[in-house]
Amino acid sequence: MTLRIYNSMTRRMETFVPLTPGKVNMYVCGPTVYDYIHIGNARPLIFFDVVRRYLEYSGYEVNFIVNFTDVDDKMIRKAEQLGTTVPEIAERFIAAYVEDRDALRAKAPTVTPRVTDTMPEIIAFIQELVDKGIAYENGGDVYFRTNRFPEYGKLSHKNLDELQYGIRIEVDKRKENPQDFVLWKAAKPGEIKWPSPWGEGRPGWHIECSAMALRYAGKTLDIHGGGQDLQFPHHECEIAQSESLTGEPLARYWMHNGFLNLDNEKMSKSLGNVVNVREILKTTTPQAVRYLMLAAHYRSPLNFSTETVQQAENSIERLANCRDNLKHRLAAVETGLTAEPNAEDSGIIARLDALQNEFAERMDDDFGTPDAITVWFKLVSEANAYLQRPVARENVLREMLRRIAALDEVLGLLPPEAGNELLDEEVDALIAERADARRNRNFARADEIRDLLAERGILLEDTPQGVRWKRK
Ligand code: AMP
Ligand code: ZN
Repeated sequence: MTLRIYNSMTRRMETFVPLTPGKVNMYVCGPTVYDYIHIGNARPLIFFDVVRRYLEYSGYEVNFIVNFTDVDDKMIRKAEQLGTTVPEIAERFIAAYVEDRDALRAKAPTVTPRVTDTMPEIIAFIQELVDKGIAYENGGDVYFRTNRFPEYGKLSHKNLDELQYGIRIEVDKRKENPQDFVLWKAAKPGEIKWPSPWGEGRPGWHIECSAMALRYAGKTLDIHGGGQDLQFPHHECEIAQSESLTGEPLARYWMHNGFLNLDNEKMSKSLGNVVNVREILKTTTPQAVRYLMLAAHYRSPLNFSTETVQQAENSIERLANCRDNLKHRLAAVETGLTAEPNAEDSGIIARLDALQNEFAERMDDDFGTPDAITVWFKLVSEANAYLQRPVARENVLREMLRRIAALDEVLGLLPPEAGNELLDEEVDALIAERADARRNRNFARADEIRDLLAERGILLEDTPQGVRWKRK
């Protein structure tokens, strides 16, 4: 079986072959941390979490990078509005984002770099472009000279003339060409700033992803993802910057998720229909939110409404009941029934094998989560039919539970099991271990503990006074 991915760059389905066998470097553009995330933002968050989980399920070692844009114009405006500083806004909304991500049962990425921690790499990147004559400084700003990158527009399939035509002629005398884009912005009085060879300022938006991808993955990513709105200009600019610098493709496969609509309308601040993740989670289970996001193919539009939420809750209940009934029956099975598997058992187990293969085939087809979920329901029907029998055999029940756990490892749709809660002391011990890991800069272990706790329904909140936790 081979994974095939629809590559937005070539607009074709392609067989997935990573640069290094067995390893995947995957970068997804992360949030600008100036506000709480809304359910539209939750779509790439959940979908790319499933991409990562499925790659791991398939045996790949995944280096998953998601950045935090912790300084930009929106952050500066927000800090002004609230009468506080950009770093304070960043801390507050990074903490909120991590809480929402945990609540949605998305695993922590391998690395979550921040712009403010990547300044030397960003400046060195820009300097190299300036040295090559691909970028130019004017009045303390630095711009990318787009006509030095003839392939500009190759992802969004636009050519330079079209792009030029499309740009409203805002007279910006500092740019040589209207489609040139900013790499470094001179600070206005009072704005947050960093020293640079071009004077004090801050990076433009696009450059951070190029610099972080290079730092954490190397010249070429295997997968680069984000919402479809990021194709132009953001990803187009990332490509221009990175490929001009390295001479190598920035990514082998480009993946873009479609948009989520609320009650068949575009969500937007001006329409006043933006729903935050933390709002929806007051009335909806995280599993139902995940289900909704995965019940549509990631490239299709997705409608979020009261009815679709209710259907998702019902579906989750069926999945969870099946797991719980199998467990219950297993607990009730007498040891005398754990005899050698008989011929009939092998027939059932062969069907389970076939279903698990079918699940992988659906996922291998450009992450076909809606069909993969259908396969899970076939497994549920198989299990429910078995549970009707007067005699259930331990090995069959265990095999069924094992398959369900395997599917859940990828899709993350099952609620934590009742009776599987951690004791307060166990939670405290894990939190202490996580604090130690962080002190030793072992962030991978720290994130692993956070994920483990999240799986058991424990949510962590990092506060200046230490870690607080609550049960979901
Ligand atoms: P933003 O904070 O607007 O840059 O968005 C963060 C991520 O969420 C990006 O990958 C966007 O493409 C994605 N996104 C924003 N709104 C929606 C939406 N309504 N549906 C799906 N994805 C979205
Ligand atoms: Zn990006």
